[in-house]
Amino acid sequence: MPATDVGDPQYFHKVVDCQWACPAHTPVPEYIRLIAQRRFTDAYMLNWESNVFPGILGRVCDRPCEPACRRGRIEDKPVAICRLKRVAADYRDDITDRLPAIPTEGNGKRVALLGAGPASLTVARDLLPLGYSCTLYDKDPKAGGLMRTNIPSFRLPEKVLDEEVYRIVDFGVEARFGQEITSLKALLEEDYDAVFIGTGAPKGKDLSLPGRKEASDKIQIGITFLTSVAFGHVKKVGKRVVVIGGGNTAMDCCRTALRLGGEDVRVTVRSPRKDMKASDWEIEEAEQEGIPIYDNHSPKAFVHENGKFKGVLFEIMQAEYDDDGKRKLVSTGEEVLFECDDVLMAIGQDNAFDWIERDLGLEFETWGMPTVDTTTLMSTLPG
Ligand code: SF4
Repeated sequence: MPATDVGDPQYFHKVVDCQWACPAHTPVPEYIRLIAQRRFTDAYMLNWESNVFPGILGRVCDRPCEPACRRGRIEDKPVAICRLKRVAADYRDDITDRLPAIPTEGNGKRVALLGAGPASLTVARDLLPLGYSCTLYDKDPKAGGLMRTNIPSFRLPEKVLDEEVYRIVDFGVEARFGQEITSLKALLEEDYDAVFIGTGAPKGKDLSLPGRKEASDKIQIGITFLTSVAFGHVKKVGKRVVVIGGGNTAMDCCRTALRLGGEDVRVTVRSPRKDMKASDWEIEEAEQEGIPIYDNHSPKAFVHENGKFKGVLFEIMQAEYDDDGKRKLVSTGEEVLFECDDVLMAIGQDNAFDWIERDLGLEFETWGMPTVDTTTLMSTLPG
């Protein structure tokens, strides 16, 4: 058996469960030790190196590190890893002199970054200090991507978001905000040395149910609603709001609706509550604000009466499990109508690559995803 190589970072990743569980492999124990020594700026910079947005993540990360925390095996709760990141961010000093120097002379290479969310911003953060020229495109007027458009400001204050996002933009990104790329072919004609596609999953799913078309002015797709609120296009909702969906977007939608005039705001989920996709703490916060969650409610139709939208008809489901524990939702035959003024649909998101022409030499898989190298994420069209 080969000797343990403690010089290999993978070794530490595997033995430090929380660090391994974090998608950015943030060195959790190390930064918590720094916080214990009140070295908040050092703790912040350690985070910044690996996860780029410590102040943002310290508020809104989905915290896959915490279920992995070994403390959870002997106590009820894990170490509050996520919130400790916020502690480092809130108590740190000015970090300007710790940021990487940006060369005044570039290396002559031009890179286009599509989508000004965390992925492209991270690429810009890493490439600008190496002398690359980075052009960042986004259809929205400001950078931040879904962090800005889909996370409500009561969870992520704009000041925190702007500080960490614009720190990178100000490294010298050439910003093309408010410019949507509708053709990869046209972009490739601009002769960039590389194109990075960091557009995320920007298309909210819809439900094609009876009455959907007639109720179109009463139904909003969750992420579109949150974006409209973020940019001030939607300022109020009706008093009675039904949210369809049980993920974190549904939790953001219901809590936002409450702040925009909703008085009777309900969340409805098809599955049993224990199978809801939203994080426990997101559900807890919604419930603390008085929002009820109706599980086993499957939407069946959007109901109208005398040409007026009345509400959503639900079929009550129950979960049945086969011998392998596989779940099947079956109707109980019972139905219930939730009368409402507005419906917010937060049932998931899809990729949207319809702007990539299919004759460019870029291969696609099922679900319309470009084929990529699993290690480098390079598409089949080099560059
Ligand atoms: S809170 Fe998020 S970014 Fe921080 S260590 Fe956990 S998973 Fe990683």
